[in-house]
Parts: sequence; structure tokens; C-alpha cells
Amino acid sequence: MYTLDIILPHIDHSKRLLPYPQARFSVLAYDTRKIRLGTDCLFFALVQQRDGHRYILDAYQKGVRSFVISDPDFDTRDYPDANFLWVNDTMRALQQLAAYHRSRFSIPVVGITGSNGKTIVKSWLHQLLSPEYKCYQSPKSYNSQLGVALSLWNLTAEHDLAIIEAGVSKIGEMDFLQQMIRPTFGIFTSLGTAHREGFNSKEEKFAEKWKLFAGVSPVIVPSSAIPEAYSSSSNCITWGGRPEDQLQFLGSSQDKDHTVLQLRYEKESFVIAAPFVDKASIDNVLTCILVMLTMGYAVDTIEQRVVLLRPLEMRLQLKKGKYNNSIIDDTYSNDFASLQIALDFLGQQNQSDVKKLILSDFEGEEWTTKTIDKFAQLLNVQSLSQVILVGERMEMLRSKLQMPSLLFKSTDELLNALADLGLKNCVLLLKGARKFELERVGRLLVEQSHDTILEINLKAIENNLSQYRSCLSKGVRMMAMVKAFSYGSGSFEVANVLQFNKLDYLTVAFVDEGAELRRAGISIPIMVLSPHEGTFEDILLYDLEPEIYSIRILRSFIAFLETRGITSYPVHLKLDTGMHRLGFMPDEIGPAVDIIRTSQRIKIVTAFSHLVGAGSRELGTFSTQQIQLFKQMVSQIELSIGYSVMKHICNTSGIVYHPEAHMDMVRLGIGLYGFDMAPNALNLEEVGTLKTTITQIKKIPKTETVGYDRKGVLQRDSIIATVKIGYADGYDRRLGNGIGEMSINGNIVTTVGNICMDMCMLDVTDIEAREGDEVLVFPDLNQAARNIGTIPYELLTGISSRVKRVYFYE
Ligand SMILES: *Cc1c(COP(=O)(O)O)cnc(C)c1O
Repeated sequence: MYTLDIILPHIDHSKRLLPYPQARFSVLAYDTRKIRLGTDCLFFALVQQRDGHRYILDAYQKGVRSFVISDPDFDTRDYPDANFLWVNDTMRALQQLAAYHRSRFSIPVVGITGSNGKTIVKSWLHQLLSPEYKCYQSPKSYNSQLGVALSLWNLTAEHDLAIIEAGVSKIGEMDFLQQMIRPTFGIFTSLGTAHREGFNSKEEKFAEKWKLFAGVSPVIVPSSAIPEAYSSSSNCITWGGRPEDQLQFLGSSQDKDHTVLQLRYEKESFVIAAPFVDKASIDNVLTCILVMLTMGYAVDTIEQRVVLLRPLEMRLQLKKGKYNNSIIDDTYSNDFASLQIALDFLGQQNQSDVKKLILSDFEGEEWTTKTIDKFAQLLNVQSLSQVILVGERMEMLRSKLQMPSLLFKSTDELLNALADLGLKNCVLLLKGARKFELERVGRLLVEQSHDTILEINLKAIENNLSQYRSCLSKGVRMMAMVKAFSYGSGSFEVANVLQFNKLDYLTVAFVDEGAELRRAGISIPIMVLSPHEGTFEDILLYDLEPEIYSIRILRSFIAFLETRGITSYPVHLKLDTGMHRLGFMPDEIGPAVDIIRTSQRIKIVTAFSHLVGAGSRELGTFSTQQIQLFKQMVSQIELSIGYSVMKHICNTSGIVYHPEAHMDMVRLGIGLYGFDMAPNALNLEEVGTLKTTITQIKKIPKTETVGYDRKGVLQRDSIIATVKIGYADGYDRRLGNGIGEMSINGNIVTTVGNICMDMCMLDVTDIEAREGDEVLVFPDLNQAARNIGTIPYELLTGISSRVKRVYFYE
């Protein structure tokens, strides 16, 4: 807890209005949706994609009374009892505060940066060092300008070592992170290719990242990552294959799931077995080993601990449970900050009002009254129906909880009782420290997945959304297309994220898709593209808004509303400006409007049309004509009905190519899922990743053939891998016989022979591959679509429903 007057000297500000300078706060708030106890918060009006000043009223209503703002003209008269601090840049102010908090601790602070492996190395070190240290680690991959500040804020006097991750994507960013973290020990994990992270060259990227280590010694780094110009840096302790590296990698041998590393440190040679076989994991292990050696650990100790590392899922996952429930599995680590994140995610789920939590004891937390109170307070402000605690020490927490709770001394005890706990029809968060292995509970509650899964990255949806939002002028609304199972990505799981991110509208193709979302608790407006007579009942029942596209459907919907005595029902009028699919033709506008005006049964909320070639340069003139015609048709409508309606015509490509036609709203479809026909226009992330596994590997002589009809003719003696995905999963048969490419351990391989219903075969002759290896099915979905003469839309929506979706939120 700080009071305002204590922090004032540490934040550069130009003006202040402090009726209550003694106001106390412990939470740095910047997103009103996440505020639970407003009186505890200091709110920063960050100016990002959305201007935080617009949410001050909301924060105030949630009890916040202290604000840091940057708008010099902000009118504070409505908030006479609130504190205001004016700064030049609210993000910098938040960082200054985090830096001040950090400066109060004189403990070792390990700063980690690099292209890949930051989060893994951080978590592994936390595990490797925890017997000696009460170690704080920044939660998840909180490594951005905001993430680092929030991470540091959670540092407390109980910790005696901190591991903080820093990530940058452009020049100039690292200085700010460095000033906050001020590491005393550095780790540089790896250097990837330049263009993927937004830098012009490897040197430029390295130089930016290296700024984290200004004045820091030592810095652990793979020598292969250091560009020429830096090779003489005296603060480096390197690992690599060269004799001059402090930790020299001499060679290795592999069995099924271990790699035995032959190493030399100082003058001594030794071997360490790492429980991994892939290169990325081995690199990360080498970094960890060198960190421990540098800290003075004995080889024996390192060896004993490294062998216990696991390639565990570190991301928070959302899965469908067996008993009409949703399971949020976040069982890799447990500390205050990551619990907070997981509870926020739980709060976003609307599919059931019943929310439960299974919570194990924490790592690296001393069990003082203060800590217990902090955790109890966090839990008591959530709306949880039940909390199930695991671990002996948790009794003390239990006594302070206000909701029904149970306690089990161990995970085994919990597993024995699991069947009787009634964990049905709810959303259940499993949050536990690694050693409690709560994932065992998850396994019993979740339907077992078959080896092919579609991973959905919900955070990528948020990223893509904000990319497109940044293309819109103020006041332009956005509709998200969630038809066809959200282009294959899921229903309420995706809709919950969109609702949480304050989308104005969701759009489905059919009424039953809309009904499913409503039953899952989605409450924002939903438009239905293709309603028909048989579904009018459900439209009303589920509060859906139909697209009205013809005189016939207009008449029948009005007749239906008459039987119910309903007036002014919201609908959307579809106008045909050239697509010639659904919609009123120009000559039908007059008669349609007459019917609408005389009946008074419906209210036109929006009028819209669809561009046939929004992303095409050749069709530019045609698009302009469509836009023109659309505007004429809508003015005719507005003139005769006597009120104005919202207008929209742009889909994803339209948003990028026709900014002049954004009008009142845009309809974002495929771009939300990470695909855009406009190359490199925006920084999109693919949302779905289709993965399968190798079931069997065989050596086949070149005289043989592979698969049905002997189509898989071999040119040489070959090694063939069979994977568990076929056309029934949505892997198109046209991808057979060398057309389809998949990726195994980073290497591209091609299909051999015809695609079967549930399987297909790959040529792995030239690469290292083992049974059980993971296979990325579409390393380049755009390319795959082009190769078989289709578009990404078809491949995405074609991934069959039997392929299990697993949702991540990082
Ligand atoms: C599907 C659809 C969209 C979205 O199109 P994208 O190309 O995926 O952005 C927009 N409007 C209508 C009417 C649609 O049917």
C-alpha cells in the first residue's frame, strides 16, 4: 500500500488536484473491466488504441478516487472528491512509479531478453533456483512496456530474487524497460531473424535488446547470437561450440526423450542429461546451466535439478469438460500475479454463472498474515460459487474466505473425492503450482483429445482486433463475423473475448448459431444473415436481429410480429449493389419502404451491402460504383422512413482498401482470425494452429508405393511418416501427392500418395523425425490454399468439428 503523497515526488507531473492526498492504493489500474475493488486502485488513463480518459467515469463509478491523466482539458468538476494528477504521458508515469517501487528492493534482479525462449528460461530458472531463493518471476509473458511495469509492481519484501522478462519490437523501447528493471544479472536467450520482429538487421535488433544490460555484469549469452562488433564485450559469459566459450558444448547423444550433453566449464568436463530432444529446449537448458554455474552451483546439483524440468504447457488453456462444463487449466505456476490474470479470464466467461476455483498452495510465498489477507481479499471480490483449496497451509486462507470452500491436504486426496464434488455445469479454474500437478485433475475432467487438435490463440484475436481498430476513425463501430463457428475457431469461446473487448455487434449466418451464443451468456447485439420463416420464434426468444433481404421475408416477418403484437423490432436491411446474392435490388426499395412505413412493426437499425471485390485493384472502380449506389439507396430509404440508419459496407479487405467507405460501421471477418489479402498491411497473428502427431515411421524401398491406388510412387529409398489427419478432418484430398506441405521440428516435408480419410503419409527421408513428434499441418495456410486453387476461408472453415479445439490465452 502506498499513499498518493508518498509517490508524488517520483512521478513527473505538471499539475495536481488532491482533495485527499492520503488516499491509499495497492493496485495499478488501467482497464476498468478488470477493476474489482475500486477503492484500492490508482487509475492510469493510458492513451493506447482506446483513450483511457473515456473510462474515467466508469472507474469512478467502480469506486476509484485517484487518477493519473494526460488530457490538460479534462473536466474534473463531476468528480469533486477525486484526486487527479496531470502528466505528460500516462504510460511513462506508470513506468516511473514501477521504477520507484523496484528501487526500494536491493535484491538481485535477473533481466531476460532475446528473441525466443524468454518465458521458458524464466520459468525454468524459477524452478531450478527455488530451493534456495524466494524467487519472484514476472507472470506469463508480461514483457511489454506495460507488462514489465505491472510485473515489477508485484515485487514484495518477501522475495529475495526477481526474474524479469523484457521484450521489444522497435528501436527505442528498451531504454524504458531498462530504467525500470535495472537488472543486476543479465540473460540473453537467442537472436532470431530480423524481419520477424520489426528490425532492419540482426545487428540493429541485437543492439536494441542489449541496451537492457547497460552496466550489467555478468550477462549470459550464446556466442552464436553476438554480432562481430560486440564480441569483445567484457561483461559476457558465453556458451557455444567454441573453445573460448565459458561453457563449451562438446557434443551430445539422444535417446527417445533425453539428450545427454557433453560440456566443459572452466577446466572441467562433465555430462548432463536434459529431458528434451528438440533444439530450442536444449538451447534453453544450456542457458539455465550456465546461469547456475555462474551463480556457483555445483554440477551435481544442476544435474539433479535439470533432469526434473518438464516441457509443460505454460499457457492458460480453456477446454471443454466432460460434464457440460468449461475447464480453465493453468497449472504451471501459482503466484499472486498469475492468479489475478487467471481470475480475470475466468470472469470473462459467460457460458455459466457458476464459477468455481481449485487452488493449490503457492510457490515462493511466505505465509504471513499479510500475504494471506492479500490472497483472501483477491478471492473475496470475485463472484465464486465455491473454492476448493489444496495443500496443508491453505487452512489459514480458508478461514478468511467468504464463499463456500473445501480443503484437501494433497492432490491425491482431491482426486479421490473428485467424483463427489459436483463440478458439473460450471466454469472451473484449475490454478496450481507445478509441484501439485493439478493437471492430473484436468485430465480427469476434460474429454481426451485425439492426436489432432486446433489450437486457438485468444490473445491473437485481441491483437488482430486492435490492429483493425487502429484503422478506423473515432466513432466508427465494428461488427465481428462469427459465422461458420467463427471461421472454424469456436463459438462462445471466441464470442466471450469479443464481448469483453466491447465489440458493437456479432454476426452469425443462421439462427441456431445465434441461439447457441445467447445460451452461452453472450449479451451484445447479434445479427443473423440468413433467417427464414421457420426460425422467427427463436429470433424473438433469443433476442436476435435478422437481416431482411427480400420483400417476401419482409412481409412474413412483419406478419409474424403482428401475431405477437410487437412493434419496432430491430432489423438490418441488406441492399444488393452488385453481389447478386441476397438483398433488395434498387427497384425494390420503394415497395419495401412502403411496407415498413405502414406497418410500424420493424425498426431499421442498419442498412448494409457487400463489396464483391474489396481487396482487388482491378475491381476498384466497381467497388466505388457499389459504394455510390449504396449511398443513393440508403438516402432514398432514410428520406421515406423519416429517420437515419447506420450504414456499413466494408468487410476485412474493405477496411484496409476503402477507408473512405467505413461509414458508421465495418464488418470484420477473416482479418480477425489473422488472415488478410493485403500483404503486410497490418501486424496480424494467426489465431488457429492445426497440429497432429506422427503415428508411425517406416523405411520403404524405392520399388514400393505408398497409399491407395499405388499413387505414392517413390524416387528413392524413403522414410515415410504416417500422421493422424485425413480428409475427414478437413485436410483436403487435393493436398495429396506432394502438393501439401507440413512442418516437423521446423523442417518442411511433403505428402506422399493420396490423402486417406483419417490419415496421410509424409516423406521424412531428409529430416530428423520420430514417432510421437508434433506436426504443424499448415505452416503456410495462404500458400496451401493457393496450391489447390482455393482461399484460406475454405481451409479454415473446413477443419472438421471432430478436430478438438483447445483455447489459449497468453
Ligand atoms: C462473411 C461476411 C463478411 C466478412 O468478410 P471477410 O472477408 O471475412 O472480412 C462481411 N459481410 C458479410 C455480409 C459477410 O457475409
